[in-house]
Amino acid sequence: MIKTIKLHTAVFWILIFAVVVAAILFLLFFDSSNFPSVFASGKSDGPVLVIDAGHGGEDGGAVSLSGVYESELNFDISQRMAALSGLTGIEFIMTRDSEDIEYPAELKSTSKRKKYDQKKRVELINGTTNAVLISVHQNFYPHKSPHGPQSFYSEIEGSDTLASLIQESMNMALYPENRRIAMPVADNIYLLKSVKCPAVLVECGFISNPEESSLLETKSYRLKIATVLISAYLKYLDTNE
Ligand SMILES: [Zn+2]
Repeated sequence: MIKTIKLHTAVFWILIFAVVVAAILFLLFFDSSNFPSVFASGKSDGPVLVIDAGHGGEDGGAVSLSGVYESELNFDISQRMAALSGLTGIEFIMTRDSEDIEYPAELKSTSKRKKYDQKKRVELINGTTNAVLISVHQNFYPHKSPHGPQSFYSEIEGSDTLASLIQESMNMALYPENRRIAMPVADNIYLLKSVKCPAVLVECGFISNPEESSLLETKSYRLKIATVLISAYLKYLDTNE
């Protein structure tokens, strides 16, 4: 009898160990380009994380020193956030599920197409009950020296709390010498000015800085960023309970 219990306990711990190892391997080798898009999780009445991969379609955003578009880095980090949300039971939606965006044929200019895309995102977010927005971006500056992640918050209640939690977590996990604090978002950021839910825009790093740009172009660093953002969101949910 005792032997059977011991055997069961051993099998149980071996199973737990296998699941943990599988989860670690999945997260380490998760390649968003080979993975079907994760667009949304199931429905409930609780908070819904809106993962917004900045730019996309005809709007590539800034370009890194090695020629990588910001939109691709934003999308990859967002896909990793979606995968982590799925694993941890966070309800979420994404504002885009691909690098391509379909525009109405009558919109011919890139500026009209960008406006159309931004409006669609605002409609989606404002139409989502209990939404909490994290918009993922990369920073760019004409000089190479500025570096370090930076979070910005909207005027809606709760945004500053989430932005501060994100900033503290990013400083601690990604850039310990970073002295940046969460800041109010600029008036010209249409998405954050138009949504009615708590909203944070994260500039994960400067793609104009050589060291940070090469870090951002590695899968492991993008996974680290996604993990930091999701853990800060979980802390935010804890503070709101
Ligand atoms: Zn951007």
